[in-house]
Amino acid sequence: MIDKNISLPRVDSFIAGELRPSADGVYTDKIDPRTGRKIKEIAASTAEDFVAAADSANTAFEVWRDKPPGERGRLLVELGRVIRNNGHLLGQIESEETGKPAHEMPALIQLTAEFFEYYGGIVNSMDGEVVNRSPDYHVYTRRDPFGVIGVILPWNAPLHQAARAIAPALAVGNCVVAKPSEHTPGSLVKLAELAVVEAGLPAGVFNVIVGRGTVVGPAMVSHPAIQKISLTGSVRAGQELGKLAAERILPLTLELGGKSANIVFDDCNIAAAAKGSVRAFTWNSGQWCAAGTRLLVQENIHDLFVEKFVAEVAALRVGPEADATSGPITTKAQYEKIQSYFAIAENEGLTCAIGGKTMSGGRFSEGWYVEPTVYTGVSNDSVLAREEIFGPVVVVIPFKDEKDAIRIANDSDFGLSAGIWSRDIGRVHRVAARLDAGRIVVNEYGGGFVQTPCGGFKQSGYGREQGVDALAHYTQLKSVIIRL
Ligand code: NAD
Repeated sequence: MIDKNISLPRVDSFIAGELRPSADGVYTDKIDPRTGRKIKEIAASTAEDFVAAADSANTAFEVWRDKPPGERGRLLVELGRVIRNNGHLLGQIESEETGKPAHEMPALIQLTAEFFEYYGGIVNSMDGEVVNRSPDYHVYTRRDPFGVIGVILPWNAPLHQAARAIAPALAVGNCVVAKPSEHTPGSLVKLAELAVVEAGLPAGVFNVIVGRGTVVGPAMVSHPAIQKISLTGSVRAGQELGKLAAERILPLTLELGGKSANIVFDDCNIAAAAKGSVRAFTWNSGQWCAAGTRLLVQENIHDLFVEKFVAEVAALRVGPEADATSGPITTKAQYEKIQSYFAIAENEGLTCAIGGKTMSGGRFSEGWYVEPTVYTGVSNDSVLAREEIFGPVVVVIPFKDEKDAIRIANDSDFGLSAGIWSRDIGRVHRVAARLDAGRIVVNEYGGGFVQTPCGGFKQSGYGREQGVDALAHYTQLKSVIIRL
């Protein structure tokens, strides 16, 4: 029986089909970002706990890998149905832990269910190939699972990011030990419980270990059953994990940070571009890897555009309410990091068109709220244009023409996403072809489907989640050559 109480006092790991406290009984306090008050405790798992989870996944692998793909797929599609049926519960847990306004959750729950339904369906059409080269040989390829996959996750969209890695990994016959962020593990633990207890996945196939990356990461890398790791997180975590993984030549998929250019050309629909560009940097309070935080605006429409854009920002409703446009910053450390960039902007003498402060007093007095912030006339060399802030802060950078826009957009260590606003279809294709980014969205910002590959150029990472290719990323290609 699953406890469906939304506010449980503790979050424990889910190992071999059951909830387990951490081996040494250590818990950390979970603070509600809306109020600054403690709401629950979160297990700080040890390396020993991780070994139990990986061993259980390794045992389950022997059975799971041999199930016909159609049978694995049916269980994942069933999990999609269970997620939809429990959407309110999952959404409430995630909203409480992240501070996301409740109205954001149904779309994220729907997306989470879709990943399991999509990969549960298409795995049944994945086959090897026959290589016909000689009548004396029968040669074919197979795609074999790796074994146990480690999945490390951030706190900004816990279920969505977990599902996009876990669903394809399980579909092709791997088992999983997932490590959600130590700040927001509750919804994924509940999802794993639902997967085993209500959808019928065998115990041990899908485990969740709750704890710190600096403890669980090294344990994950050194466990022999772990054959691949998918990490969604910061460049720093990617670098640290990459160094450890290099010792074992462990393959990684890295979905890291961004500083994405959102380019507004003079032939665009200015009203639509102004509105869409606000969402680009404020969705989820700017805690979004793909956020359009470098807003490149063509010089000849700059003043007109900025006026409309700032008016749209002024109309946002930030707050603890369920229907607010955006909520608080999820962690205290992130709240303080954003403030440090306000100080850097002041030192650099940037022009602040709106925002630039935390929100205090009244209903903001205890939570972690910051004002959506726009700096104008910024050079692409500014610290605020180079570093990922991960908060609702945008820099407006003027440009002359197409060539100039491409040069500035690509002058970044990151290459996760980009936006183009233009009604000239030729220009759209020319610019999209030249941008160094894994995802280009035109005449809106964000977007995409579970079928759309997602990943970065440069320091934004390598490998791709989502789309049909992700199935291949969680398999190893093998050739079988038979002399007849
Ligand atoms: P983070 O890097 O601090 O943590 C991410 C995860 O990595 C957490 O589970 C953490 O415990 C773990 N971790 C930290 N250090 C580790 C280590 N040395 N070894 C192993 N694991 C370690 O990131 P965050 O603050 O949780 O999330 C924000 C970051 O995630 C931003 O940089 C954002 O751009 C990025 N992100 C990227 C994508 C994408 O698809 N590219 C999506 C969401 C978030």
